[in-house]
Amino acid sequence: MEVSCLEPCVQLKLSREELENIVDKAKDWALMHGISMRSKVSFNKNQVQVLPFTLLPSSFPKKHFEKVKNIQVLLNELIHKVAHNNDFLIKSLKSTIGADSFTAKLFNIYETVYKEGFNQTLSLGLFRSDYMLHENQIKQVELNTIASSFGGIVTIISQYHKYILSELGYTDKIKNIPENNPINGLCKGLTYAWKLYDNKKAVILFVVESITYNICDQRFHEFEISKINPDIKVIRKSLKDLVSEARLGPNKQLIVGDLEVSVVYFRSGYEVEAYPTEQEWEIRLLIERSKAIKCPSIQYHLAGTKKVQQSLAYSNALNVFLKNDNIIKQIQEIFAGLYSLEFNNETESVIDNAISHPKKYVLKPQREGGGNNVYDKDIKLRLESMRNSEERTAWILMDRFYPPVQKNYIVCARNEPFEDNHLHFSNVVSELGMYGVIIGNHDNVIYNEEVGHILRTKPSNENEGGIAAGIGAIDSPYLIS
Ligand code: ADP
Ligand code: MG
Repeated sequence: MEVSCLEPCVQLKLSREELENIVDKAKDWALMHGISMRSKVSFNKNQVQVLPFTLLPSSFPKKHFEKVKNIQVLLNELIHKVAHNNDFLIKSLKSTIGADSFTAKLFNIYETVYKEGFNQTLSLGLFRSDYMLHENQIKQVELNTIASSFGGIVTIISQYHKYILSELGYTDKIKNIPENNPINGLCKGLTYAWKLYDNKKAVILFVVESITYNICDQRFHEFEISKINPDIKVIRKSLKDLVSEARLGPNKQLIVGDLEVSVVYFRSGYEVEAYPTEQEWEIRLLIERSKAIKCPSIQYHLAGTKKVQQSLAYSNALNVFLKNDNIIKQIQEIFAGLYSLEFNNETESVIDNAISHPKKYVLKPQREGGGNNVYDKDIKLRLESMRNSEERTAWILMDRFYPPVQKNYIVCARNEPFEDNHLHFSNVVSELGMYGVIIGNHDNVIYNEEVGHILRTKPSNENEGGIAAGIGAIDSPYLIS
């Protein structure tokens, strides 16, 4: 596979000692401004360590950046419509729920509340659509509808990259780092939903993991909410906590302890581990039954599955939701080839091709949060082993992207796998994300905004760049023509 290259924003001519000094300063800046996380190796509530970040911003073509920035509100609306189209959700997910018990559990909750009638018709979406460059085009990796992370930290990292460019003597280059304030945009969504709920005493509930490593990012949301409206109280609970603490009030209010909840913001609940027993599933159902505004509601959650993404890439699928040909064309342009593994003749030839040319594809299950996809020769092995089994319908195949390579330094804490990368101007690739906020019900969209971006960068030889896993790094785009 031929891979193209991008020029880095600057070529540093520093001795090893000078580089060490600038990295030390960068780390202190990062720690002092919250570009941090808790250590997975030695968890301690009293300590954070630097979250992996790039020393310099990474080059990114302006025209592609602007294209997906402009398209975000269209994607928000598309996903909103998909989430409110019962027939489409059933049709897309039917075979998958037969093969994947996790998606089936989510779908059962959806069907239950759909049949009962939603006690809260509004949904809040804090979405993030992710992209990679491939053969001089920009293509969508996936669209997250649940727990879209790092909105807080990326707001800070663009300030850091401006600082470091000036520190290194390149103030003239700062103008190429675009303004970015997703934390404010995302929290405006949360506070607007709180206002729509119309009870000044009601709190916003963050549903979190029992142990949170990515604490800084989540707290940035909490602190920003307080900045926007100091009267709004935020509480944090795991699904496990809610098993004993949550109940429904007489008017379907969600009550936690003695507090009424206006908005439920899920930063957990997309992963199998969040539901160790049936009780956590019961709590998810109770939340969906309540009249609290959910971010995401169960229908938004399902609309963000990879299977739905694949269904939308079928030719003519978008015509169900969008009437304007120009908009349909713009959205179709960012879709990659996506393939169902349902049982039919068309699928068999895609499977044959993926077994012969695994590097052309990524094999994806219905999971979120990184580390679940299958690459390279494992695709062949996995496809061969499940070819004749129902199991394969839980997966999709996707064309694999090979984004352009450039050089950067990845800085991370001493105990991370790439701790020496900051010394090497090494080959990296980037993934751009655009944040979007939407609020609406079946009939109306009442709020729809694009609110900022994220760049995540990883060593070019890694399949995935999980930030919390210490492989990927938080970055800022340095726009080039
Ligand atoms: P998750 O829900 O686990 O985040 P993604 O679809 O975003 O799933 O995949 C995780 C990571 O795998 C991405 O961030 C990207 O690094 C890599 N990846 C996913 N799809 C592709 C693709 N089509 N081509 C190349 N890399 C991909
Ligand atoms: Mg992802």
